[in-house]
Order: sequence, then C-alpha cells, then structure tokens
Amino acid sequence: SYSTKSGIAGVAERTLIAVKPDGVQKKLIGQIIQRFEQRGFKLVAMKFLKAPEDLLARHYHDLHKKPFYPNLLRYMSSGPVVAMVWEGHNVVRTSRLMVGDTNPAEALPGTVRGDFSVHISRNVVHASDSVDGAQREIQLWFDRRELVDWECCDHSNTYQV
Ligand code: UDP
Ligand code: MG
Repeated sequence: SYSTKSGIAGVAERTLIAVKPDGVQKKLIGQIIQRFEQRGFKLVAMKFLKAPEDLLARHYHDLHKKPFYPNLLRYMSSGPVVAMVWEGHNVVRTSRLMVGDTNPAEALPGTVRGDFSVHISRNVVHASDSVDGAQREIQLWFDRRELVDWECCDHSNTYQV
C-alpha cells in the first residue's frame, strides 16, 4: 500500500462517497467524480447499482429512530446510486468539507451540496463522517476484492515521497 511505500501513514485513509439517486438523475456523476480526482484523491473502487433495502438499512442503522428515516430509505432506494471509495491524506475530513453541510441551506457555495441542492431531503451525495464510520461503510458496500490496488502516477506531485 501507499503507506508502506511512501512512509506516510495518513495517505492510506479511505472514505465512502456515494452519488445519491437525485445526483444521478441530475447528471452530476461526472462532476462529483471530477472534484475528487482534481483534489488529488485516488479512486479505489466504484460501482453503479440500485442499493438493496437491507444494505441501506445497515448503512443508516444509526438513524433508524429518526422521523425522516422512512423517507430517507425511500429516497435512497428510488433509483441507482454510484458508490465509490476514495483514498488520500485526511480524505474523510476533506470530503466532508467538499460535500458541505448536511442541510443544503447551510452548505457553502463551492461545496457539492451548496452548488447542486436546496433541501435536506435531496442532498445529492453521501460522505462518511469518520475514519471508523468509513471503514464500516466500505465493508458494507464493497467486497475486499473490489478495492483496487494501484499506483497513481502523480503521487509525488500530491505527496512528499
Ligand atoms: N436527512 C434528512 N433529514 C434530516 C436529516 C438527514 O432527510 O433532517 C437525510 C439526508 O439525506 C442526510 C442523511 O439523512 O444526508 C443522513 O443524515 P446524516 O445526519 O448522517 O447527514 P450526512 O452525514 O449525510 O451529512
Ligand atoms: Mg452521515
């Protein structure tokens, strides 16, 4: 892995990013991927799928008592999503900044939610909120063998090697 090769432990951090059904319908897949590529993160896995109900229930298990939970599951299963794993230094925290506030009304312009959404019930994208949460979510959405081990040619322009 990078951390072994480069000796930079933080580089191996990973997060789960998903383009939600509204993001797919609004044709934002390419733009969202582009933001993570341009920032300097490395794509590790990606798939396009209609998320099964049980996967969504496990993904959002912390929220199952919230009043918005039934609508959230209906929304997330209303159409296909793009699930991705991105890797890089501080990627969990930085992705949350790139994605913006959960409530698009509070999301700053320049963030994904701040640029492409207006209401909390349709906020375009998911990003893991902690390193532990990311690990749990990545295991939920991806089989080990779907996580691709590869080297990005611009590594030395992104990190000190
Ligand atoms: N959500 C909602 N109403 C709310 C709060 C959350 O519909 O009042 C939805 C929204 O799609 C959000 C998701 O539930 O992205 C998960 O909520 P969380 O608090 O984990 O926000 P996130 O981590 O996605 O920013
Ligand atoms: Mg969350």
